[in-house]
Amino acid sequence: MEKITYCENCCKDTEYAIRDEIISVDLKGVKFTYGALVPYCKECQNEVYIPEVNDLNIIRAYKAQKEALEKGK
Ligand SMILES: [Zn+2]
Repeated sequence: MEKITYCENCCKDTEYAIRDEIISVDLKGVKFTYGALVPYCKECQNEVYIPEVNDLNIIRAYKAQKEALEKGK
């Protein structure tokens, strides 16, 4: 898979890379962190939106939230 996507900042298709970021969430008093994948444009370093990566982050966040809820019981 080629890592090319449209960057709104560059107004063209650019190459992107992915960095790991720890995201802290406080959802209705349930606090948890998860390692999110953040795709960014290699040319301008702006974040870009990749649906597949976003899906992975949702799964990671969901798992982390579930674990946090189970710990809190
Ligand atoms: Zn860009």
